[in-house]
Amino acid sequence: MPQILENNLTFNGSFTTRSSTTRIVVHHSASDIDTTIEDIHNWHLNNGWSGIGYHYIIYADGTIYRGRPEKVKGAHAYQDSTHEANTNGIGICLIGDFTSSKPTNTQMTSLIWLIKNIWTRYPNISVIRHSDVMSTACPGSSFPWSELKLKLAEEVIDIVLEKWMVEGGQKALKELENKGLVNNPENWSSESELAEYVPAYLFWMMMNRLAEYKA
Ligand SMILES: [Zn+2]
Repeated sequence: MPQILENNLTFNGSFTTRSSTTRIVVHHSASDIDTTIEDIHNWHLNNGWSGIGYHYIIYADGTIYRGRPEKVKGAHAYQDSTHEANTNGIGICLIGDFTSSKPTNTQMTSLIWLIKNIWTRYPNISVIRHSDVMSTACPGSSFPWSELKLKLAEEVIDIVLEKWMVEGGQKALKELENKGLVNNPENWSSESELAEYVPAYLFWMMMNRLAEYKA
């Protein structure tokens, strides 16, 4: 299971909090596969920025590092004031140059995990390429964009299905409670506990069967 590692970077100056967050922008570093977060941080410091412009970095081995704090304005997708995605976008950079090579499978798995993780804080925001908001090749012509979009669509279906099943389970539980079949509903009905601990589909099936049985 991937996780987000904190960086050891020293930033130069302060950040501005984004007023809105409507998209995730995917980049490549357009550099060697062994480029580190410190390298990028130094390049961006040399641009006169506060430090690394991306919010997340993903190495070829799938390691995810936090760059800037997630809620602050990044420095990764500026074209002009009407097209820029810095004011409303979270920047993710995959290490590598995908004009000629592809990201590793582990890197793509981490990317999908990270997007889903961001979606828990910013539900359903769109995912775009840097080239969608700026005339750039980033994240490279070999980046498997349509595959990523397809996988994300499947993830969205799973998220919606899970929500539907948990809601179905809660509705069925309420019915059981009304019928006096569940005598201590507060042990069951905490929404977060349901979502976190109960395999949703099993719960949904069980509750619906019980509700049917009584009816
Ligand atoms: Zn880019």
